[in-house]
Amino acid sequence: MASNLNASTLLGLNRREVTALVEQAGQPAYRAQQIMDGVYRERVRSFEQMSTLPRPFREDLAQGGFVVGSPEIEQRFLSRDGTVRYLVAFGDGESVETVWMPEGDGGEADGETEAGDSAEMIAGAGRASRGWDRATICISSQVGCAVDCQFCLTALLGVKRNLTAGEIVGQVLAVLSDQKVSPQHDRINLVFMGMGEPFLNYDNFMKAVRLLVQEVGLAESRMTVSTAGIVPRIHDFGQEAIRPRLAISLNASNDDLRTRLMPLNRKWNLERLLAAAREFPLRTRERVTFEYVLLHNVNDRRENAEEVVELLRGMRSRVNLIALNPGPGIDFVTPAAESVAAFQKILRDAGILTFVRRPRGRDIYAACGQLKRTVAIMPAEERSS
Ligand code: SAH
Repeated sequence: MASNLNASTLLGLNRREVTALVEQAGQPAYRAQQIMDGVYRERVRSFEQMSTLPRPFREDLAQGGFVVGSPEIEQRFLSRDGTVRYLVAFGDGESVETVWMPEGDGGEADGETEAGDSAEMIAGAGRASRGWDRATICISSQVGCAVDCQFCLTALLGVKRNLTAGEIVGQVLAVLSDQKVSPQHDRINLVFMGMGEPFLNYDNFMKAVRLLVQEVGLAESRMTVSTAGIVPRIHDFGQEAIRPRLAISLNASNDDLRTRLMPLNRKWNLERLLAAAREFPLRTRERVTFEYVLLHNVNDRRENAEEVVELLRGMRSRVNLIALNPGPGIDFVTPAAESVAAFQKILRDAGILTFVRRPRGRDIYAACGQLKRTVAIMPAEERSS
């Protein structure tokens, strides 16, 4: 809200920073824990709601220019497949999109998570009445994006600014509250695959990750970050003690094609990108995911699939194929289901674990590559699937 323009937000502060704040205010150390619990677990939106803190301390905080700093849900778009696209607004009036994707009744395995699903599946059976037993939240890391991938709607916005760690965490909290769920009781996956390039906002992204794991209570094994291929940050990311799984947007099978589709390939070409992926220190049972957006007659031919096989040979990888999600201003065509299946078969026959991503929320412009703060839904005649 505009009134919070110059305020410091508690949301985004880590335990060390909150402890310093509490000490400065001459308060006992345990107040830090109360603030952390209030902000990240109870998801309070104002000091009023922090009833564990004495009123004078709350007043001090307010007078010191502090606010909780929760973002506002400005709009919701509901897809017929259950996906919800949220327009989430921050203190300076900028906004991003955050997407909620509930998953089936246990029947629609998406293969995204690889650990511990079957036991929880049984525990989650009682939840079938609400129509889902796990859900994925897709969050944004920047307002707009600077990377300029030719098939992506977010690219058309350019980049406005980075999100702070508090704004990244705030999207998750806003959606959890709106859906009335919590990571303590519900199976929540997180993907950093919304607007923006997380590895071009690396420090804020990583601070948000640590807060989400250590304070909000989400499991790092249930988080995935996708990068367009910022090679030096892939190396840094491999050294992090707490980190999500890694996904890389491959999207092309040779340098000429990739440079045409993703101009950043000029800076970090396939050789450098795949070297970084090969050197990436994987954990037990972990794989690097490669995303590949299929564009009709551009990168979806047999030769392309064969080149991908060569690129990924011997790597502990999985491939997620995504048929192009269409949008206004995007000059590519979505391939037919048969050519997607044929592409998948070539990879699978070569021993590469390959999945086809089911599009989510295409009708409300919520699917991969469609996040552009569109305040509309798709005309019925264009909803091909
Ligand atoms: N900037 C990061 C995070 C975004 S992830 C990255 O590029 O990885 C979004 C995913 O959607 C990427 O894998 C991207 O290649 C894919 N994508 C972009 N535009 C798309 C479109 N129109 N249809 C389908 N997938 C698309």
